Order: sequence, then C-alpha cells, then structure tokens
Amino acid sequence: MSSDELMEKKLVELLETAWRILKLGPICDSCLGRQFAMLSTGLTNAERGRAIKIALAMSGSLDESDRSLLEELAQSSENARLSLGVEDKKEKCWVCLGEMEPEKLERWADMVVRDLRLLQHDSFLVGTKMSGLLAENEELLLADGGSRWAEPMKSEINREVGKFVSKKTKKTVSFDAPDVLALLDLAKGQVETKIFSLYIMGRYRKLERGFPQTRWPCRDCGGKGCKSCDYTGRRYSESVDELIRDPVIEAARCDDTVFHGAGREDIDARMLGNGRPFVVEAVAPAIREIDLHKLQEEINRRAEGKVEVLDLTLSEKSMVEHLKKALLKKTYFMKVEINQEIPEEKLKSVLSGLVGSIKQRTPTRVSHRRADKVRTRDVYDIQLNEIEGKSAKITIKGSSGLYVKELVSGDGGRTDPSLAGLLGFDAKVIELDVINVGGEADAKVTRNTKEIET
Ligand SMILES: [Zn+2]
Ligand SMILES: [Zn+2]
Repeated sequence: MSSDELMEKKLVELLETAWRILKLGPICDSCLGRQFAMLSTGLTNAERGRAIKIALAMSGSLDESDRSLLEELAQSSENARLSLGVEDKKEKCWVCLGEMEPEKLERWADMVVRDLRLLQHDSFLVGTKMSGLLAENEELLLADGGSRWAEPMKSEINREVGKFVSKKTKKTVSFDAPDVLALLDLAKGQVETKIFSLYIMGRYRKLERGFPQTRWPCRDCGGKGCKSCDYTGRRYSESVDELIRDPVIEAARCDDTVFHGAGREDIDARMLGNGRPFVVEAVAPAIREIDLHKLQEEINRRAEGKVEVLDLTLSEKSMVEHLKKALLKKTYFMKVEINQEIPEEKLKSVLSGLVGSIKQRTPTRVSHRRADKVRTRDVYDIQLNEIEGKSAKITIKGSSGLYVKELVSGDGGRTDPSLAGLLGFDAKVIELDVINVGGEADAKVTRNTKEIET
C-alpha cells in the first residue's frame, strides 16, 4: 500500500468512527473527543471533539445542494448550525448528561477546594465514583460507536477537575503518593475526602527488657479484656509501639498509629547501639507539618529511658515495604552460661568453629507461628569478650534471621553447628542485646546512622 493509500485508509477509519458516534445522538465535545483520547497528545478531549466536529461540518458543506449531512450534525455541532443558519440551540449530551460541561467541572472543583481547605496537605488526587446511569451510557457509546482509542469518562473527570483545583489552590496533583484524596460521587453529588497516612521513619533503641516491639493482644480474649489479662486486653502492658504512639497522635492529630519495624528483637532482649530502623504510620493525620525534633524529644521524655528514638525523618509508604524486605545484618552481645567450666583457649577455638553457614530448623519456641523448615544462615564473626567460671560474654555478628539463642543451645540438634553441640555440654543465652542493626558492628553507640543498609 502506498503512503497515500495508507493515509486515506486511516482518515476514513477515523472519520467513519466519528460519524458513527455522532449519529447515536447529541454528544458534547468532551464525550466525542474522549473516544479519540489515545490519539495525539497535548489536547484536551474537548479540543479533540471540537476539531472532529469542525472537520465533519466542513465536509458537510462541500455540496451546496445537499444539506442532509449538516442537518444530522446540527444537534451536536455549533458550526453545522451556523452553516445552516439555524438557531444556535444545542441539545444536552446523551452520554454525560452535561456532566462534562466546564461549568459543571468547575463546580465540582469548588466543592473539592472547600473540603480540602480543612485538611493540611501539599498534594492531592481527585477520584470519581461513576453513577450507574453514566456508566451505562459510556458502555453503550463504546459498544455502538466502536472506537479503539477511548479513555474512561472518570479519567477525564479526575484530570479536568484536578486541573481546576490545582489552579485554584496552587497544590499539586500526585498520582503516586498524594496527601489527600477527593472522591467525587456522581450519583450523590457529593465529595468524600480521605486523608492518607503520614510516614515517619527513625531508629529506636529499647533500653529495658521485658516488653515487645508492638502491641500484643491477650491470647485468651483477643483484645476484648478478660480475667487472665486483668481486663486490659493486652498480654504486655507496654511495647515500643505504644511508648511512641501518644506523642505521635498528639503531634499529627491522627486517629491511630501503626508501627512497622525492620525485624524485631525478642521480648527479653534489649536493642542498643545504633538502634533498629522503623516507620511509624500516623493514620488520617489532621496535621502533616510536624516539628520532628520536638516530637523526638517528647517521645524520649515520656518513654522515661525505656525506649529512645533517633533520627526521625519524614518518609513514604514504600519505605514500609522496603523495611520489611531489608535483610539487615545484626550484631548481638550475649551472656552465655555453660554447665561446665571451659578453658578460655578451648572456648575461643570452638567459637571460631561457628563462623560460616549454619543450618537452622525453625526453633521449637517459635514453631507455633512459623513454618517448620530448615534454613541456612550465616555467622560472620564471633568474639569472646570475657570468661568467668561457667559464664561467658560473647559478641556475634550474623545474617538477617539468624536465631542466636539456638546457635548457643543447639535447640535439641535443630541448629547445627551450635556452641552446645561443639562443646558437648549444655549452653544457653541468659542475657541478650542487639547492639547493631545494619551498618558496621560497633559496640559503642552510634547515633547518626541515617541510611538503611540492605
Ligand atoms: Zn458529554
Ligand atoms: Zn484477655
């Protein structure tokens, strides 16, 4: 096919489709143009529709003696009406029933602006809930018009109302991470707003033993409150999560918080050193501009030395996923008891035998909530810090997911090799601290490690 023939074929397809659509009933510029939305960028659908109507009205004017084309066009095209010299009375679009008229869109925008004014935000997104009637009209148009280049009506409404709102408020539209959403309910004629969570990232240090990282509902009553939990609904009265919750709720004036940690330590372990990365999610915050320095001080003051947070910064939702997936190396400091006195040199050489890969079957103590399988983990480094009688202090650096208590006890042969296994005597951890998560192992407190290493 020559390029002329090709062009002709394409023109025919385009105009035939437009003509087929126009014959279905009076249609506005937007609704017509939307059927060609995927063709040619930098135009609004209203501009596309108008251009097509003009081209067709011009074709209809080619033959002075036959006005039938123009007459068919007249219900939808101003140019056709002008050419015919008839009264300029346009009919209501059968597809959107007037919903796409600029005045109507601007009225929606005014409602959005009014509602969003009450919510602190920098970015927003407009969404549309179609009415049954309009959704049906749109389906008919697509089925009978047969365009291959259409976009959904709600995409156009979202975009055009978003443009108006942005112009009026100077706030930006964000598709990925808006602060607020304004949902236009076409059937009800109402705007519903939704505030997205605010994400604050930091690191925490847990300076005392005996409480978990997150809220822990009572197992007997599931949180309702019963005799065994003293009607608190909780198994533990405190958690890292709850120790930072109230100051965040007050600062962001939010409904609740959700705590996301990069892994967790055992209830009886402390989290020292550079702290563990976490994100706290403020749910539906009325305030997004928070003095994080002040918030940090307030959390630390109220946590009374049980928990300390550092390096608070604003973050985003994607960081939660990132934290959950991050494989962070951990360094532990532990006090171990062996039921036999071991000479220092022997203990050192046995410990060095633990460096390398370790086969760990799911520990008995967590087997009720984890799948039972054998995993391979690594011990990167192990140091004997002190030995006194039957007890020893040991620093160990291992891969993410290494169970160190079992590395010492052997867990009845489920972890191999283990300290107990190599010694031939029982051994167990009696005190455990995590002293580094990610980054380089350093027994001293490092307070300014901002990056999360994976
Ligand atoms: Zn329309
Ligand atoms: Zn209970």
